[in-house]
Amino acid sequence: MYDVIIIGAGPAGLTAGIYTGRARLKTLILEAGIIGGNAALTDLIENYPGFPFGINGPDLMDSFVKQAERFGVELVQEEVTAIENTPEGKKVVTTEGEYRGSALIVTVGVKRRELEVEGEKEFLGRGVSYCATCDGAFFRGVPVAVVGGGDTAVKEALYLAGIASRVYLIHRREEFRANPALLERLYATDNIELKLNRVVKNIKGSGLMNKLVLYDKVSGEDEDLEVEGFFVSIGMVAAGDIIGDLVETRDGYIVTDDHMQTSVEGIFAAGDICAKQFRQVATAVGDGAVAGMAVTEYLKES
Ligand SMILES: Cc1cc2nc3c(=O)[nH]c(=O)nc-3n(C[C@H](O)[C@H](O)[C@H](O)COP(=O)(O)OP(=O)(O)OC[C@H]3O[C@@H](n4cnc5c(N)ncnc54)[C@H](O)[C@@H]3O)c2cc1C
Repeated sequence: MYDVIIIGAGPAGLTAGIYTGRARLKTLILEAGIIGGNAALTDLIENYPGFPFGINGPDLMDSFVKQAERFGVELVQEEVTAIENTPEGKKVVTTEGEYRGSALIVTVGVKRRELEVEGEKEFLGRGVSYCATCDGAFFRGVPVAVVGGGDTAVKEALYLAGIASRVYLIHRREEFRANPALLERLYATDNIELKLNRVVKNIKGSGLMNKLVLYDKVSGEDEDLEVEGFFVSIGMVAAGDIIGDLVETRDGYIVTDDHMQTSVEGIFAAGDICAKQFRQVATAVGDGAVAGMAVTEYLKES
C-alpha cells in the first residue's frame, strides 16, 4: 500500500512526487510512455525560469527525475488502464498488475488531436507522425510537411528544418497564432515553405506515404504535395480516458478546486489534464507542487 500513487511522469507528476517524497510519503509514479511527458519531447524550452538561454526538454526532465528519486520516489513504467475508489483505498490497475494508495494524483496530460483525414491511420508510422522530436530523424534529407498554426506546429517545423531537405508548413488560415518570437525564426528559415489557406484532404502512398492532397481555399483547386513525412500538429485533447466518470470533468479535462482536489475525496489532479486555460511546463509544475502539498495535508488529517 502506497501513501500516494501518481499517474504520469511529466512535469506535474514528477513535481508532485518531489513534494510527497520529501514529505516522507511512500510515493509511486506510474508512467505509460516517455518519462518526462510532453516536456521531454521538445528540444528547446525557452520559457521555463532559471535557464536564461533555454534548456533541452529531455535534460530538464532528467533533472526532475533525479530530484524525485533522491526523495525515494519509485518510478515504474506501466500503463494505467483503470482507477477505482474502494473502501480499501484507491485501486490502480495497470497492464502488469494492480496497486493501492491512500491518495491518488492524476497527471496524465494531453495527447495530440488527430486530423481525421483519409490515409491518416493507414500511414501512421509509415510517414505520418504526431511528434517531430520522436520521428524527425527518419526524414533526413527528404521533404516533409507539418500541419498546424500554433506554437507547437511552428516549433515542429523549425526542428524539422534542421533535418529534412524542405519543410512545408500547412495552415488553414492566412495568419499564424504562434508566438511572435517563434514566427521571427520561422520567416528567417530558408527551407520552410508556407502553404497558407490550405487544408489537407487526404494522404496517399503505397506502403509508405508519398503525397498529400491539399485543397486551396482561395483558388478552390486541389494541389498535390510530394512529401515523405507528414507531422500532424493541430492541438491537443485530454488524455484522461482512464478517468471515465469517476471524477467531474469538463470536455474531458478534470475539474479541481484550488488545492487540486477533484470531486472525489483523496483523488487529486495536476497539470495539463486539468480544466484550465494555460498549459505550460511552469503551470504544470505549479499545479504539481500544490497537489503534492495538498495530498500531504489530506493524509495528515485522514
Ligand atoms: C512539442 C511540444 C512543445 C512544447 N514546448 C513547450 C515550451 O517550450 N514551454 C512550455 O512551458 N511548455 C511547452 N509544451 C507544453 C508542456 O510540455 C506541457 O504543458 C507539460 O509537459 C505538461 O505537463 P504534465 O505533467 O501536465 O503532462 P505531460 O507532460 O503530458 O505528462 C503526462 C504523462 O502522463 C503519461 N500518461 C498518460 N496516460 C497514462 C496512463 N494511462 N498511464 C500512465 N501514464 C500515463 C504520459 O505518457 C505522459 O508522460 C510543449 C508541448 C509539446 C507537445
